[in-house]
Amino acid sequence: MPQIKPENLSTRLDDPSFTPVARVLAAGKGRFKVRGWIKRKRDQKGKIFFVFRDASGEMQVVVDEARVSKEDYGLAGKLQMESSVFFEGEARADERAPGGAELHVSSVTPVWVGKEFPIQKDLSEDFLLDVRHLWLRSGRMGAALRVRAGVHQAFRDFMAAKGYREIHNPSFVSGAVEGGSTLFEVPYFGKKVFLTQSGQFYNEAYVFGLERIWGIAPSFRAEKSRTRRHLTEFWHAEMEAAWMQLPELIDFCQEMVVSIAQDAREKFPNELKLLGRDPNDLKRVDKPFERFTYRKILEAAKEKFPDLRFGSDLGEAEEREITKDFTKPIVVTHYPASLKPFYHRPNPADEETVLCCDFLAPEGYGEIIGGGERCWTLDEVVGRMKAEKLDPKAYEWYLDLRRYGAVPHSGFGLGLERLTTWLCKLPHIREVIGFPRTMNRFYP
Ligand code: ATP
Ligand code: MG
Repeated sequence: MPQIKPENLSTRLDDPSFTPVARVLAAGKGRFKVRGWIKRKRDQKGKIFFVFRDASGEMQVVVDEARVSKEDYGLAGKLQMESSVFFEGEARADERAPGGAELHVSSVTPVWVGKEFPIQKDLSEDFLLDVRHLWLRSGRMGAALRVRAGVHQAFRDFMAAKGYREIHNPSFVSGAVEGGSTLFEVPYFGKKVFLTQSGQFYNEAYVFGLERIWGIAPSFRAEKSRTRRHLTEFWHAEMEAAWMQLPELIDFCQEMVVSIAQDAREKFPNELKLLGRDPNDLKRVDKPFERFTYRKILEAAKEKFPDLRFGSDLGEAEEREITKDFTKPIVVTHYPASLKPFYHRPNPADEETVLCCDFLAPEGYGEIIGGGERCWTLDEVVGRMKAEKLDPKAYEWYLDLRRYGAVPHSGFGLGLERLTTWLCKLPHIREVIGFPRTMNRFYP
């Protein structure tokens, strides 16, 4: 197999004369050196056509027997799918070429020819998950991961612009935040701890010092529900603010979702198109979002789901039905207390409900944000704990937050993957995370 031996790699790898594919395409003419990978190859008497890619894009590369040395032509012939290579040549505008230009090669330097790439024909979902470490190179994964990174960045930018501070929370915790049924247990020096389901309790502790904070970290949930929107490990973007109540929180989340959606539309139109989302769809994600109380939405949902009663949870199926005809997210407020963790603040006007807001993405996607006002007096929080049959003793430190200088506060949790899946209009949450963790999958 011809390949550069590392000691013969005479070209310096930080050589600034290598040009990213996107810049070659934009220039459309001139001499360039490029480095990257072979995506496809086609032989045609005396010429070899490659689709060549790097992180910035892909372009057609032509190796013409009449224009390169015999040796280089032979080397080009040995390149195969996913071989890595340097090419040098002349860019020429060509309307027929994808990207509007192609590179006519004068020299070929294989870096690593490799073996036959395992992903050739079998593109079944299971197979692609087995070879996810290689499938990450595909155009589709590349596009989804670029949008994901953009969404993450847009979230950070939004929080920074609002004057919020970033905090970091532990992943090992001593108790449940969201309820005991989805906890992962981990041995811890002869004791047991759990993987965190949410930074909620810690986030609340921070606001008495920093007032307005955000964090983004993995949350772990032993979700037995095999839906298209549940991972066992997901990236949880959370925010918590002192002196904030429900109406202000809803406005904040709304502005944030609009801002992230518009950022994705402007920065990633090609990625979105490739994934099946018309970027123009996202223009409709503007203020205000329609708001419904849980009671209202329940009435509407009863048409399709006659068994729903006050207190029924809205799961994936119900939310899909509720949101399928909307073109931007909706806000559902005032869920029954029994459906929300104990730290949600009871609604003074209707004690059966709490002051919370879920943001449901349109087109059937469903919940992307769960947020709300928090219990802030000691009586309130202990009352809710007792109602949920929790032992306040297990939450002593958390109760201290209400013993000393308690203030009203609110916050939310947003699933980075849920938001990205909807923005990209993808059918399954695992398409927006490099190495998805689900009930059945933790390899590679
Ligand atoms: P669901 O009812 O869909 O399981 P949840 O009510 O358990 O969601 P929260 O506890 O409010 O969700 O978590 C906040 C956000 O974190 C959710 O709105 C969602 O975007 C995200 N999220 C929650 N669980 C998961 C999961 N298993 N996989 C991916 N994202 C999740
Ligand atoms: Mg859940």
